[in-house]
Amino acid sequence: MAKQFKPETLCVQAGWTPKKGEPRVLPIYQSTTFKYDTSEQMARLFDLEESGYFYTRLQNPTNDAVAAKIAALEGGVAAMLTSSGQAANFYAIFNICQAGDHFVCSSAIYGGTFNLFGVTMKKLGIDVTFVSPDASEEEISAAFQPNTKALFGETISNPSLEVLDIEKFARIAHSNGVPLIVDNTFPTPINCRPFEWGADIVVHSTTKYMDGHATSVGGCIVDSGNFDWDAHAEKFPGLCTPDESYHGLTYTKAFGKGAYITKATAQLMRDLGSIQSPQNSFLLNLGLETLHLRMPQHCRNAQKVAEFLSKNEKVAWVNYCGLPDNKYYALAQKYMPNGSCGVISFGLKGGRDVSIKFMDSLEFIAIVTHVADARSCVLHPASHTHRQLSDEQLMEAGVRPDLIRLSVGIENADDIIADIEQALNA
Ligand SMILES: *Cc1c(COP(=O)(O)O)cnc(C)c1O
Repeated sequence: MAKQFKPETLCVQAGWTPKKGEPRVLPIYQSTTFKYDTSEQMARLFDLEESGYFYTRLQNPTNDAVAAKIAALEGGVAAMLTSSGQAANFYAIFNICQAGDHFVCSSAIYGGTFNLFGVTMKKLGIDVTFVSPDASEEEISAAFQPNTKALFGETISNPSLEVLDIEKFARIAHSNGVPLIVDNTFPTPINCRPFEWGADIVVHSTTKYMDGHATSVGGCIVDSGNFDWDAHAEKFPGLCTPDESYHGLTYTKAFGKGAYITKATAQLMRDLGSIQSPQNSFLLNLGLETLHLRMPQHCRNAQKVAEFLSKNEKVAWVNYCGLPDNKYYALAQKYMPNGSCGVISFGLKGGRDVSIKFMDSLEFIAIVTHVADARSCVLHPASHTHRQLSDEQLMEAGVRPDLIRLSVGIENADDIIADIEQALNA
């Protein structure tokens, strides 16, 4: 069930196709382990000679069904769920980088990812160079080194809302013989499918719009199957040379287009264990069933709210790529013609203190750390999510100290605007 169906059908139907007498709804396989008749059968699974379930840390049928749905939505060949978006981003890089390696990354990324890549992965000996996503191809290419293994960016950055020129990034990655990894959390595959523009691997924090109801933290990695690892075998020994922990099996030879996700499962999940719980992936699947209905409503509401804010005299600036005067309007129209996401950022005249007063005066729009679910919410990144960053790092990540992040939900747009208006007047 893949290519022939449109996204709306995939949201509802993909991943789980029950056979005669099986449950219509994807069951929660709430089991750590799976039973076999002979010791030989089990041994073949451990050697990766046969596919099958044996222990939920490696694979679970509920998780696999949901991963297959996300792979279908992105147009990829294989996917794995992780316990969080952070784990997805870590695994996506760590699957192809080891101590002594390096990767290049857009500086316009989520604060947690910035810290993971710039601080924690450095401690593991994996180095990163951050580049402005708006820099020229020459400038970005200049950041590549002989040990560079990947290029990374976010389709729409959280919270600075910069739009990635995916085709430009794909050209740079490929001319340097490395894959482009794109975090597609904010647009979701309903609004943008990065593989169609040359990205090789997509990652998600499914915690956001995919779950959409703020019930479950989770992540996902999807492989397009398009990157030719063997053509750059010297850069990717983990995929292109024998793995001694599986009797000298070589992932690209044994699994073809499934090599990257199989290695991530067989090595990283086996050893690091950041699995999604089947209960949470069941909830994620319920969210996915309405993703195609919710995303357009988020975008319609956000457009109305952004237009309201941009006309209000108390508002100093508004950043939403759906506004024609936005720096990223043209890129957004190209990559996301049906809408981008429901997240807007803006600043109020009077700066930081006025912003805080505004947020405290909101009624149903709640102050929460979360973003991108059905309920409208706000956050002040400089005081909350990005507290650990210096002012210089904040600016580098595209986060102004007065920035308010407003995640527009799927309520009625007039009610959302009325709440904002009364708080502005408070
Ligand atoms: C939230 C987020 C993450 C981290 O995901 P968690 O599920 O919170 O671990 C990564 N990337 C982006 C773009 C995000 O918005």
